Amino acid sequence: MVTHKAIKKIRNIGFIAHIDAGKTTVTERVLYITGRIHRVGGVDEGTTAMDWMPQERERGITITAAATTTQWKQHQVNIIDTPGHVDFTAEVERSLRVLDGGIVVLDAVAGVQSQSETVWRQADTYNVPRICFVNKMDRVGASYERTIDSIRRRLNGNPVAVQLPIGEEAEFRGVIDLLGGRATMFTDDISQADAPEEGPVPEDYQEAFQDYRQAMIEKIVETDEDLLVRYLEGDNIEEESLRKALRNATIQRSLIPVLCGSAIKNKGVHNLLDAIVSYLPSPADVPPVEAVRVDNEEIVIRPPDDEGPLSALAFKVALDPYVGRLVFLRIYSGKVKAGSQVTNATKGNRERLGRLLQMHANHREELEEIGAGNICAAIGLKDTFTGDTIVTGPELAILEPPKFPQPVVSVAIEPMTRADQDKLTDSLRKLSEEDPTFVVKFNEETGQTIISGMGELHLEVLVDRMKREFQVEATVGSPRVSYRETITQPVRVEGRFVRQSGGHGQFGHVWLEMEPLDQGGGIVFKNSIVGGAIPREYIPAVEKGVLQALDNGPQGGYPMVDMKVTLVDGSYHEVDSSEIAFRSAAMMAIRDGSRKGKPVLLEPIAHMEVETPGEFLSDVLGDLGTRRAQIRNIEGQDKTQVVKALLPLGETFAYTTALRSLTKGRATFTMEFRHYQPVPQNLIDTVVKIS
Ligand code: GDP
Repeated sequence: MVTHKAIKKIRNIGFIAHIDAGKTTVTERVLYITGRIHRVGGVDEGTTAMDWMPQERERGITITAAATTTQWKQHQVNIIDTPGHVDFTAEVERSLRVLDGGIVVLDAVAGVQSQSETVWRQADTYNVPRICFVNKMDRVGASYERTIDSIRRRLNGNPVAVQLPIGEEAEFRGVIDLLGGRATMFTDDISQADAPEEGPVPEDYQEAFQDYRQAMIEKIVETDEDLLVRYLEGDNIEEESLRKALRNATIQRSLIPVLCGSAIKNKGVHNLLDAIVSYLPSPADVPPVEAVRVDNEEIVIRPPDDEGPLSALAFKVALDPYVGRLVFLRIYSGKVKAGSQVTNATKGNRERLGRLLQMHANHREELEEIGAGNICAAIGLKDTFTGDTIVTGPELAILEPPKFPQPVVSVAIEPMTRADQDKLTDSLRKLSEEDPTFVVKFNEETGQTIISGMGELHLEVLVDRMKREFQVEATVGSPRVSYRETITQPVRVEGRFVRQSGGHGQFGHVWLEMEPLDQGGGIVFKNSIVGGAIPREYIPAVEKGVLQALDNGPQGGYPMVDMKVTLVDGSYHEVDSSEIAFRSAAMMAIRDGSRKGKPVLLEPIAHMEVETPGEFLSDVLGDLGTRRAQIRNIEGQDKTQVVKALLPLGETFAYTTALRSLTKGRATFTMEFRHYQPVPQNLIDTVVKIS
């Protein structure tokens, strides 16, 4: 049974939104309408189909990137779930990496909000074409115009309205398709799955329709040379050509079609589905992926062709209570077959792929094989992790893995009873397998297990899962931020390790240059020894010593980052030199250099956005003042004030509770890690002491 669809009919998409904009509701609606689920689950009642983990329901946030497949008008739509909360960076990165198009869900009252900005930037990085859905048109204060304007202002996007709403707020009752010149009038039946009736544009909307249509046409023809010429010559351009040009412009990312609706009232979602199929690209419409050959680092192209060699990216590992370890794959070229042998090109292992599944909202479909451009979950891959490339055929080539940041917050975790220690270790290992930004370390000195992640909430959710899914009861310490250290000035340092103890001695001698790199530069080691001052066999030992010493900075023993270390010179002894001697020499040099290079202690800084009723503004600001916050902006939107601030992540712990009591629970906030910054000199002692 060949089940792969013609590739042009596939859409790999994701909904992107700020928390509460309605992403879950829209997804739920889409699944309902496309006929795959037969009852409407609402987020408020905690019964949605996409969010399958219990704590997502409780918190009303979406965490995992489960991929769900559905059908719309002879197209296969694969929905990659993207998280609404930026603490789950890994999920955002991995989903953006594998989807071909995004739907940005915006709240018609709030317009573009901070997290839409963040994810928008990430979507830009991954060149993801987008359309916007202005949701909640039924709410008091909803404005289509203002929301479109915020796309222009805050996102620097080039939006083009392809619909005009009929009425706003309680009066919102229909939309006009500006291309087709037809109006869809909605009913109040929220369980209606069939598309609502279309009719002519109402008389009292004729003028607005003509104005909006004109504006839209001008935007579209500007993106297409031939159409522009025809337009300027006064030609009447047919709908089909405009549609085609709009599709091209969306895929090229020069235009962003904007639609509107009210997901909860079942208004506008059918039209949104039509737009997903019409404007967002199929896997064949985006540039083919590049892979890097393992043997000679040559770049090879992997076009989306079923007949080509298999090239698939493992973008998510999930532990499923029923079938065990699921590896979600995006197949870029070739076909995968159930029960076949494949190679993990990243690791160099052979693996047997067992069954292939495609997940639907309420059932799983087992497949024999699945082709290029598609997404599926594989069972049986034991040693394949997020970011690995799966191939067949003789040529091993690796797809670029998603990028994951280093964790910035950690807590100590202990089992309630000694007997639970093994279970704890095992469950943490499994959870960290699913999530590359969740790191588990065992501290030999203190005997403590330390877990680290991207924020307080991220860790809370993981501990919660540990309790629920693995029945491990644990106590958790207070969260701590992960400090780092770096140098601010280049230095050239020497390390000599010489021991004479009786007969056979030890001799290692290096000269290293250490220089600061820009933020995010990591650690770079370079060997520029020429002429054999140090024999080649000892260079790996030098590198090991460098990395080992950099793990413990001079200010507080924190890992050092953003630095380039070059091995420039040294000497050796025919008899006494050894790997251990060179490793020790390198460590001595690094310790010396770290002190001489004007070291600084770095702390993670978060960007926070607080939305509060105006009456609490001064309290909120006063409190932020005590948290070393730097206020960047205060903006009034009606009675609500939005405060944007940068502050040390270490000062934000338990902010949820603090803000609730300051504002009687009426303010909300969002926060994300932004960058590292030196700790002010006068606070270093406190930091070093408490940690
Ligand atoms: P997410 O955080 O982006 O996934 O947002 P949800 O789908 O969880 O929705 C957040 C809240 O907005 C929920 O209480 C929904 O019931 C509500 N909501 C979603 N869509 C609409 C809409 O079209 N109109 C109104 N008034 N509320 C909506």
